[in-house]
Amino acid sequence: MQNIAILGATGSIGRSALAVIANHPDRYRAGALAAGSDAKALAAAALAVRPQAVAIADEAKRSELAALLAEGGWKGEILSGPGAAEQLAADARFDTVIHAIVGAAGVRPAFAAAAAGKRLLLANKESVVCGGEILMRTVRESGATLLPVDSEHNAIFQCLHAAGSSGRDAARIWLTCSGGPFHARPEVDLARVTPEQALAHPTWKMGRKISIDSATLMNKGLEVIEAHHLFDFPPERISVVIHPQSVVHSMVEFADGAVVAELGTADMKLPIAYCLAYPERIAGDVKRLDITRMGPLTFSEPDTGRFPLLALAFEAISSGAASPIILNGANEVAVEAFLAGKIGFAAIGALCRDALDALSPAEPSGLEDILEIDRMAREAARSLTARHAI
Ligand code: NDP
Repeated sequence: MQNIAILGATGSIGRSALAVIANHPDRYRAGALAAGSDAKALAAAALAVRPQAVAIADEAKRSELAALLAEGGWKGEILSGPGAAEQLAADARFDTVIHAIVGAAGVRPAFAAAAAGKRLLLANKESVVCGGEILMRTVRESGATLLPVDSEHNAIFQCLHAAGSSGRDAARIWLTCSGGPFHARPEVDLARVTPEQALAHPTWKMGRKISIDSATLMNKGLEVIEAHHLFDFPPERISVVIHPQSVVHSMVEFADGAVVAELGTADMKLPIAYCLAYPERIAGDVKRLDITRMGPLTFSEPDTGRFPLLALAFEAISSGAASPIILNGANEVAVEAFLAGKIGFAAIGALCRDALDALSPAEPSGLEDILEIDRMAREAARSLTARHAI
């Protein structure tokens, strides 16, 4: 029986994780649930699964959460405050951590789970982007097991595993990208796109931040950086390919020219179940792919002129370990500003470029350096927002 802490339990990935766990009560138990500020959703999830502990980052929501849980007759442990998720990630009662917090708020919990030697099922791509080699070293030194939940990286992991490859005989990683709502529509004036239009992803149902990242192609940029670290793979051998059908979740090309791909429907329960059971497989409650009805699959090059954030991510890898942290922090501020109606869609990329140009911090040598660079990036991006205001 795996006793699991789910960080980001109220989000899109967190809810999918709870659904997979509910289907396998003989193997998995949701022992702890953590969220940011949604006390109602956290209480509802906790009353359904009766974990040992819950955590809420927003201290001001603790009393509301406690009252809702007491009303439901639950008497477990309640943690609160910005360090609460990190505390659960390190807690020895939970052997597995599903990390589905959004954004750089997930960096400390990722390091905590890694340092504690946990089985870490990682959806929070921002912690790999910011933590980079320092996070990967923490995983290696503690003996933690890092399993990628992000669908493309999970697909690559599956391709390598299926091919019995350590990755050393891989020639190229092909990261597939749906293109979001605008890539296939050159007639759309990106400067006039509204948050509602940008949030309407054509194939995946996801949280708000990653949906905007998918529309700008920043999500793919973050994934390129993530793949570079997770698979210790050089960026010049990572290619992004636009695949609007989202059937092929990614591919690995081997030294002999063979290409191994993972296919499936667009449902995050699939990679979550794979990571939970790895190296076994368990029955999945996902819509099956009907090969005879899926229609033509198309693959084409991304338009990096119209979507500059993808090129910026490649550039950030070659500029050293601080640049991806700056890019990520600036992007989070820019996405928030766009969703709040303060800047236009096309300004997200411009603001990130400006933040990268404005800062040149020393390379990080540990977690506190990473968090300091993230703080500087956010501060710079906030002060640059006025330059791009609508
Ligand atoms: P959501 O916005 O749906 O959910 C985010 C979760 O994080 C919520 O539970 C939220 O709690 C919680 N949270 C936010 N801030 C904090 C904090 N400071 N401390 C603790 N919890 C916090 O996001 P998604 O589920 O879409 O994405 C989660 C992560 O997974 C992201 O990194 C994303 O890139 C990655 N991912 C997502 C995919 C998807 O299909 N959705 C696919 C691949 C990767 P609250 O509800 O209280 O705000």
